[in-house]
Amino acid sequence: MRLSLQNMMEESKFVQLSVQEKEAIDRRISLYNFILQQVTDAIVLVKDDGTFVDVNEAACRLFRASKEQLLQKNFYEYAYLVPEHIFHFQRQMLHKFGTYDDELIIRLADGEIKHVQLFMRRYNEQPFNLYMIRDITSKKVLERERTINETLFKDLFNRAGDGIVIFDEQGRFIDANPSFCASVNVSKEELFKLSIQTFIPIEYYGLFEQLLLTLKRTGTVSSELPFILGDGMQKLFELTLTANVHSGFFMAIMRNVTEKRSMEMNLQRSEERFRAIFEQAHEAILICDDFGNILRANPAASRTFELPLHDLVHANLMQFIDAKDEKVRHVLRQFFRDGEIRDELTFHMPNGEKKQLEFTSKKGVINGYHLTIFRNVSERRKMEKQLREQEQKFRNVFNHAMDGIVLMDNEQRIFDANPVACRIFALSKKQLMEKRLHTFIGSNDLHKFQMWLNNGEEEEQFTITDGEGKKKIVELSFKPNIIEHVGLMMVRDITEKKEMEEQLRKSDTLSVVGQLAAGIAHEIRNPMTALKGFIQLLQGSIGNDCEQHNMYFHVIMSELKRIESIITEFLVLAKPQAVHYERGDVAKIMQETVDLLSVQATMHNIQIEATYEPVPPIYCDSKQLKQVFINILKNAIEVMPKGGTITVSVAHVAEGVRISVRDEGSGIPKDKIKKLGEPFYTTKERGTGLGLMVSYKIIEEHQGRIDVESEVGVGTTFYITLPIDNDMR
Ligand code: ADP
Ligand code: MG
Repeated sequence: MRLSLQNMMEESKFVQLSVQEKEAIDRRISLYNFILQQVTDAIVLVKDDGTFVDVNEAACRLFRASKEQLLQKNFYEYAYLVPEHIFHFQRQMLHKFGTYDDELIIRLADGEIKHVQLFMRRYNEQPFNLYMIRDITSKKVLERERTINETLFKDLFNRAGDGIVIFDEQGRFIDANPSFCASVNVSKEELFKLSIQTFIPIEYYGLFEQLLLTLKRTGTVSSELPFILGDGMQKLFELTLTANVHSGFFMAIMRNVTEKRSMEMNLQRSEERFRAIFEQAHEAILICDDFGNILRANPAASRTFELPLHDLVHANLMQFIDAKDEKVRHVLRQFFRDGEIRDELTFHMPNGEKKQLEFTSKKGVINGYHLTIFRNVSERRKMEKQLREQEQKFRNVFNHAMDGIVLMDNEQRIFDANPVACRIFALSKKQLMEKRLHTFIGSNDLHKFQMWLNNGEEEEQFTITDGEGKKKIVELSFKPNIIEHVGLMMVRDITEKKEMEEQLRKSDTLSVVGQLAAGIAHEIRNPMTALKGFIQLLQGSIGNDCEQHNMYFHVIMSELKRIESIITEFLVLAKPQAVHYERGDVAKIMQETVDLLSVQATMHNIQIEATYEPVPPIYCDSKQLKQVFINILKNAIEVMPKGGTITVSVAHVAEGVRISVRDEGSGIPKDKIKKLGEPFYTTKERGTGLGLMVSYKIIEEHQGRIDVESEVGVGTTFYITLPIDNDMR
């Protein structure tokens, strides 16, 4: 620079200077030069095309290059980030006004960007311009930071979820953000009339003063402090105070922690509760990791798994189960897939015991570990098994009982019945279960049935109509509420028993009649002999001349014969009788009887067709049997006044010898069949009603049986069955 200035001087040849003047100028020049080099601003001389003509030291520092290097360069190389048209404009302004100031960005060789202020000066007639360049990069950065900080702070202040207040040393509010206003429930305008102390409960003043003291000393302090809100409520706040040394203000950032505290308390309480449940539960509880390692166990688990607690905690759950078991593998798969499972497995305890445990597992519920609760169901399973067995026993009794058993509720709805009951009611179990018991009871018995059901404990007989419409006599016994609301009805079919009783009654009558007959018959017979003798004498002495007398004698004699025949039949009943058992051929006896009655049959235009199978001889009284056959054949003849055929057969059957006599008579109505054999039962005008009675009696004494089949209008068959081996020997 100095050089160029000297050149400038030398070139102005027209100035002639004195030595003193020249020295003064030189001094001045060197002073300027000195100043030029010392100024902090970079100063460069630049031609219009941008080549540097001269630079000072500050310029070298700015451009980070030596003077020599810089003189090789062009100013525009550094300012290439600036568009050409701007430079063009700058140059125009410079030429026009001789001076122009602007701000620019330059880029150094190493890539650093600098903000500079450019003061451009132009000297008339000089081939270069003077640029003064001031580095304002740091100022720019600061400026930017400040604006960013300011907006950031405003943003934070207004949007923060935490309450932020700024207050002075006296506690007067300088500013407060919306969050603070909302949390203390006071508007910003009202806030400025108050001080922060207004919000602090009186008993916390001391603490607050202390906080402020610490704050002034250390610049920041944190604490928890309750605040009284606009509505008088108190809330707990966590607050951080900072002191701003420059402004003398304090800033408080505060957060409402009332809920947080109460949540923490709840959490703690539920944690305690969990612990209590865990420790005291009757169910075994285990907490395991992914590999089955037992991390925690409760006392119940120790009991269930038959291991002391500290051993159990170091055990692995897989030790207790059979990992090869397909069911176990399935359970594990499902657990890891669904995150939870409820199932039952057999666990092998260290003492060799096997336990059936029911469990529920939930994955990752306790700090990522798995919780499993076990219940020992071995006992329950055992009881269930026993129950099943008992039920089976009951079923067996129920199903194989000799009597019918019906289970019904209080409304007599049947809900179970055993096979015998089904047979008695002649319905399937399903059909029976749709019925109520009283629907089977005959209308005559219904009232008695209801009364009995309410208070009867004794067995009672009722007539029922079964599913097929058949009347049956049943004996019922009832136990109400054998289990809750379930009554048990025992049903016994006594129809046959009743019939047998009837038979027995009949034979009782027979033996009574028999005894009577024995007494009376003899008493009558003797006078009868006298009567008959004297009548015959009388008839002889009167002679045959008188027609009328002859007729009288005839009537008397026939009536006497009738009396005699009645008495003879009666006498058969009498015991002891001159019975005489010997081996006899039933067919032969029958043939003799048929021969005997053949005349009478022919007279009534009746044929007797007899077939005889060879039968073994049986012990019998042939006279008595003959009397039976006569009675039955006579009855057959008497029911066929218009004639017909009587079919007689003697056959060998399993039970012994069977004799049958079939007629083509009027038949016997069903309800009258049971009357046959009763003494004096007759439908005939001159019948005695004793013939069949005597016959039944005789056959009974031969240990045989008489059965009657009859159809009204078609005919009747009498079957006499006699055993071959009887006790008559
Ligand atoms: P009786 O012949 O004197 O009437 P029985 O004891 O021999 O007395 O018979 C009793 C009744 O039984 C008869 O009155 C008759 O009503 C009935 N009876 C017996 N055998 C027959 C038959 N073969 N066909 C129809 N009814 C008969
Ligand atoms: Mg008769």
